[in-house]
Amino acid sequence: MQLRHLFPLMMTLAAGIGASAQTPATANAPAQQNPAQRQSYDWRRTDIPPPPGASIRVNTVGFLPDAVKRATLLGTATQFSVLDADTGAVAFSGAVSAPVRTAPTDTDEEVRIADFTALQAPGRYVLEVPGLGRSAPFAVGPQVWNEPYRIVTRGMYLWRCGVEVSAQWQGRTFHHGPCHLGDGLLDLAGGPAGAVKPSTGGWHDAGDYNKYVVNAGVTVGLMFKAWEHFRDRIERVPLDLPESGKGMRDLLAELRFEYDWLFTMQDEDGRVHDKLSAVDFKYWGSPDKDPSPRYLSPWGSTATADFVALMALGARHFREFDPAYADRCLAAARRSWEFLLAHPEHHAADLSAFHTGVYGPPDSVHRLWAAVELWETTGEAAPLAEFERRAQSLEFTLGGPNWGDVRDLALGTYLTASRKEARNAGLVRHLTGNLLSQAGRIVENCRVNPHGRPYGATRADFYWGCNGSVAAQTYLLQLADRLSPAPEPAYRQTAQQTLAHLFGRNFHGRSYVTGLGANPPEHLHDRRGDPAWPGYLVGGPHPDARFYFDEWRDPSRNEIAINWNASLIYALAAFVQPRTGTQ
Ligand SMILES: [Zn+2]
Repeated sequence: MQLRHLFPLMMTLAAGIGASAQTPATANAPAQQNPAQRQSYDWRRTDIPPPPGASIRVNTVGFLPDAVKRATLLGTATQFSVLDADTGAVAFSGAVSAPVRTAPTDTDEEVRIADFTALQAPGRYVLEVPGLGRSAPFAVGPQVWNEPYRIVTRGMYLWRCGVEVSAQWQGRTFHHGPCHLGDGLLDLAGGPAGAVKPSTGGWHDAGDYNKYVVNAGVTVGLMFKAWEHFRDRIERVPLDLPESGKGMRDLLAELRFEYDWLFTMQDEDGRVHDKLSAVDFKYWGSPDKDPSPRYLSPWGSTATADFVALMALGARHFREFDPAYADRCLAAARRSWEFLLAHPEHHAADLSAFHTGVYGPPDSVHRLWAAVELWETTGEAAPLAEFERRAQSLEFTLGGPNWGDVRDLALGTYLTASRKEARNAGLVRHLTGNLLSQAGRIVENCRVNPHGRPYGATRADFYWGCNGSVAAQTYLLQLADRLSPAPEPAYRQTAQQTLAHLFGRNFHGRSYVTGLGANPPEHLHDRRGDPAWPGYLVGGPHPDARFYFDEWRDPSRNEIAINWNASLIYALAAFVQPRTGTQ
């Protein structure tokens, strides 16, 4: 079982989970299939020195001109310079901060901060520190996040199942043929044995090739939030999809590919299969060579509720481009909504025949999400009443949307709804105040963290997939930015510092995103193997900030997953700068 799928448990047990507790899910993967991936690795290590070359820790992609720009330094230097990367000319110089001691549960070391926020001239630079040398190059400019957004979003395309996919990036070619064309057998979902309900398409979930409705939920939800919040920034970014230029914006075309599969997960009466999966994780290799039979699972109420939310979202956002498709989404949403109303109790999917991922959180906040998206799409009173009943005692999280808890998506839809007059004014006030309070905590976490990590630095703040949460926190910051009664630049500045952390200002001094920035991960826990496919955020360090290795056998730190990528797509979309237009 992959602990990634036990996220809520990890939240409470994180302090007690050390490396020795990890059992790689693919320890049985034939080593000869991964010859480039053999590295020395001690699962019991507790003393983690900074990796070589990680003494200057700085965002290795770039900064918008008005961004806060900071690097975290080891050593005792008192001065630093920023040089033009091409000419070596000094563009900026400054004094290093007094030493700062990081928490034992963070990086546990003495560091200093170099602040070069005042450097705003576009260009390509390196940081130079006496005794430490020079950093990897980084850019300053208005469009530094455009290409990362494009590559990370194209990562979703490269996860497509059932079709051929290919890409070229940094001189490498990535390709696989059509895969999993036999999806999905009905044997484990009531039969008849050997019968197939066609369920090809959709995205592979992560480093494995299975497909899970609940994780698709938060993933698509975050991608549509990117669309809702930043459409004017991203709608013209070319993703080079097979569907590009055929009438639908590229991001929506990629989402539609997932929808074509999601429809197949619904039964006639409205219940929704929880997942489509092999019975175990044993296969390792290219997806088009995977011989594993793959089965539809029985239904679950959480999957069914997420399905309603997704179909309501699809009905709203696809309508402009394809009204018939939007009608189909809305009909599917209504059918599953009626089924949920007739089955008001949580119903966990029976997954006892499987030894693959379990995304099985209680359905309560997923029903909340279904209700609010159905209301925003239709304006009907009943789902609004259902949402407001469920939302009365809720507050925003600190970690942003995740597959186990989608309340932040639901509450955000309510607070930014187009039908403002229908809402309960007291509830709107309460939720807005709570959101601003949580966003303020995130801003403060980032401010006091010497690596600009906005989550915090206790043991509980590092767990399987925490990089995905760090990226997802920018959703709360951007929501606060939109709803704050007075302008507060710290929200968007903190969201940029979050990206800076993920792309290099961290203990490892490296990008946590494949194919982007300096020294990105190369040996993913990804069945497609080496070299790492581009555009993917890895799960990140735990149980503290030091404990990450670029090691394929470590799914808990070096796997990739659609939900984490969706968080990063959202985080990046906020800072895309169209090449034409007024922004
Ligand atoms: Zn596939």
